[in-house]
Amino acid sequence: MADLRARAPGREVQAIGIGLPGLVDHGRGSVAWSPLLEGTDLPFREACEARLGAPVQIDNDSNLLTLAELWFGAGRALSDFAVVTIEHGVGMGLVQGGRLFRGARGMGLELGHTKVRLDGALCRCGQRGCLEAYLADYALAREAATALGRDPRQSQSPRAMLETLFGEAKAGHESAREIFARAGRYLAMGLANLVQLFDPGLVILSGERMRYDFLYAEDVLAEMQRLVLPAGRPPVRVEVHAWGDLVWAQGAAALALVAATDEALGT
Ligand SMILES: [Zn+2]
Repeated sequence: MADLRARAPGREVQAIGIGLPGLVDHGRGSVAWSPLLEGTDLPFREACEARLGAPVQIDNDSNLLTLAELWFGAGRALSDFAVVTIEHGVGMGLVQGGRLFRGARGMGLELGHTKVRLDGALCRCGQRGCLEAYLADYALAREAATALGRDPRQSQSPRAMLETLFGEAKAGHESAREIFARAGRYLAMGLANLVQLFDPGLVILSGERMRYDFLYAEDVLAEMQRLVLPAGRPPVRVEVHAWGDLVWAQGAAALALVAATDEALGT
């Protein structure tokens, strides 16, 4: 914050945008639950404002990515689209009628925690059978340790383990390939459910993980289309955006700009 003020002397910081994973109530400025924070129902916006000395807006990180697409990306020309992010977890954002959908309490659109299997794999949220438990990097790393015969207690970080697994799959390791193939089928199921519920004009798959072939393999998308009714209609459009970290920052900037604009216009 001191750096920012030093770079723009004499100018006030009017709004700061912060995104984080989990159940974030944008309106109240509170975090019901986040994998990054200890505790529940935390007054996170208030704490950030006290620390930074400027107005802060908080939101779910997938919402920020969706705002970035709405303001600066493919969403500029669309009124209804969805963004799905697959990185440490599985996130989702939705634009309906040109506006970001937030739900009543900031608890919605948790695609990663929709259930795809009764009594299934343990998710980091504490429940079982969530989509994320079959798709996120920690989930694949857990399976990778077994498939590659590594001791999970002594193994690399989840990201390093995933890189190793990806290399093995590329080289033809059967178990490694099966892990990605299965994750791809779960992704197809999650995307099909999303399309069936919201009928978006475009689905954007975004995030660093999109570079892994299985996530945008033709057969994953073909399976998704197969699972969607009614047959015979034009397939939903899907785009893959393998952008870097900057896009998250663009989303945070958009969130801050919305707040500063509303403040200036008195809306
Ligand atoms: Zn979960």
